[in-house]
Amino acid sequence: MASEFVFSPVPMVSVPVVGEAARFPVHRIYCVGRNYEEHAKEMGFTGREPPFFFIKPATNAVVVNAGETGTVEYPPLTKNLHHEIELVVAIGTGGKNIKAADAHKHIFGYAVGLDMTRRDLQGEMKKQGRPWEIGKAFEQSAPIGPIVPAAKAGDVANAEISLQVNGADRQRSTVSKLIWNIGETIEHLSTAWELQPGDLIFTGTPEGVAAVVAGDTLVGEVAGLPKLSIKIA
Ligand code: MN
Repeated sequence: MASEFVFSPVPMVSVPVVGEAARFPVHRIYCVGRNYEEHAKEMGFTGREPPFFFIKPATNAVVVNAGETGTVEYPPLTKNLHHEIELVVAIGTGGKNIKAADAHKHIFGYAVGLDMTRRDLQGEMKKQGRPWEIGKAFEQSAPIGPIVPAAKAGDVANAEISLQVNGADRQRSTVSKLIWNIGETIEHLSTAWELQPGDLIFTGTPEGVAAVVAGDTLVGEVAGLPKLSIKIA
């Protein structure tokens, strides 16, 4: 029998949903750049510039179940792999030109994510005015924990967000310090792209980004959501 495809397609990436048997199928991964003032400053900017977007392929996700520790292989070419702890917004209803006030109608839920970054390669691309993909959109660059449906997630807009490496604090802030809050982020994003169910939005990282090495264990948390734990192999 002739097969539909010339080789087996990559399986759909999906994320477990807390309290539900059905999983959340991932369409795209959007990331917001410099969405916390203190992080923009540590990256050499003023914190007054508007945030912006970049994209990772869905297949960059490392999906980690609640209570488990995922594994991320230290990626090639870099000597400066950075962690960026982020609140992730999971889109359940698509749309374009969504107003911030209506954004909640499009949100399925929330998760904790890590926007892993080859900072040295990203910096080189910035210097040359070239695209960032080599610094941002590489294999296993987007660890993510389970998605909590919005109604059960509590007040994520004001939740504490933190990351510990080997038990020591690296990043600690609050989601209320987002430059573009969740609604505004969806408003800006949906003017540029038509959001689809299954889109994930990594909303940006607070200050304290730094390097990890093989053997490190990272535990990220947004209060009210399951922790995200990974080990660098
Ligand atoms: Mn980021």
